[in-house]
Amino acid sequence: MSASHHSAPVTSAPVCVTGSAGYIASHVVAQLLARGYCVRGTVRSLRKEKEKDIAHLRALPDADTHLELVEADLMKPGSFDGAVAGCEYVMHTASPYMLNAQDPQKDLVDPAVQGTRTVLESCKKAGSVRRVVLTSSMAAITDEPESDHVLTEADWNTKSTLERNAYYLSKTLAEKAGWRFIEEEKPGFDLVVINPFLVIGPSLSAAINTSPQMFLDLLVGAYPGIMNLAWGFVDVRDVARAHVLAIETQAAHGRYICANTAITMRELVELLRASGYEGYKLPNLGLDCGVGDYVVKLSSYLQPKGIGSYLRTHVGRVPRFDHSKIQRELGLSFLPLKQSILDTLADLKTWGHIAPPKA
Ligand code: NDP
Repeated sequence: MSASHHSAPVTSAPVCVTGSAGYIASHVVAQLLARGYCVRGTVRSLRKEKEKDIAHLRALPDADTHLELVEADLMKPGSFDGAVAGCEYVMHTASPYMLNAQDPQKDLVDPAVQGTRTVLESCKKAGSVRRVVLTSSMAAITDEPESDHVLTEADWNTKSTLERNAYYLSKTLAEKAGWRFIEEEKPGFDLVVINPFLVIGPSLSAAINTSPQMFLDLLVGAYPGIMNLAWGFVDVRDVARAHVLAIETQAAHGRYICANTAITMRELVELLRASGYEGYKLPNLGLDCGVGDYVVKLSSYLQPKGIGSYLRTHVGRVPRFDHSKIQRELGLSFLPLKQSILDTLADLKTWGHIAPPKA
């Protein structure tokens, strides 16, 4: 842990966190409150019927005195003016995350890209903002990992389109819009970008994020077999800490790959089998071979569009990446991967998402 992490809060003004009820953002808010910051979180709706979606934020320690929630929508120009007014630090995490959008332009790209611009424009108008931390993604670094290339912060996803990995496209264009805004507008604040890989770990609310959902799918037999897939995971608690370190480390700059180590589907299934989940419908059939890759790619055309294109671009590829910059410059250390994986499953059980195995 870096020395800066023990220092006093770097601002007495509220830190604005957009999309604060989300899976990652809730942890960011929790850690900011625990560090003594005042937080202004944005949510799409504060209406009474939506109260259950934000109850987990209101229940956080110190929320009653240090957390203020305001409404803002990525698709409404000027919507974030009030949210960022007077803030020195803004964390822009809000962006739709789904692999299977009905209308990828409207559901994914527009809110991601226009939303980023809208938030940055409000920050410029505010005049008080010193730094914006943007939650980008590994999806902005690569569309399909090449096994013979170690990905670094210098890499950009150049392949995604609306038809192919539209969520990836939305994250790539949103991050680019962020850098372009800084370059063209010279708004008087800097941008620091966190690029997490697949985020797992305990959730502060009952909602199941797209990434942990994968573990559920594994347990209920949704996968026909063990495919030649490998995932780069990172714990949500580490991602949240990276956001806090990004404001507390004055010299932070540029992009930061935020990923622990990669694990193959076979290794993951074996870990689950050895950790008390052997009674569930874990996949057995070995499709992690040349013929298997062929079968998976063919059958991917029967899957919903977003999932199909994910499979076709990831089967047979082990992501390789250099995660040293975030450790070196921000002093972030990663929780052990095995702990993150088992904590995710334990948490899914706690929330009642995993029922006991059928006899
Ligand atoms: P969540 O779905 O939990 O959070 C997304 C947040 O974005 C929600 O708070 C949602 O608000 C908000 N949002 C979506 N559309 C709008 C809109 N039109 N106006 C205002 N707010 C909106 O997902 P995550 O916590 O996983 O995602 C947070 C960020 O992290 C995103 O930028 C995502 O791309 C990025 N990321 C996530 C990874 C992962 O594996 N989970 C990996 C890499 C990056 P509401 O609660 O109202 O729906």
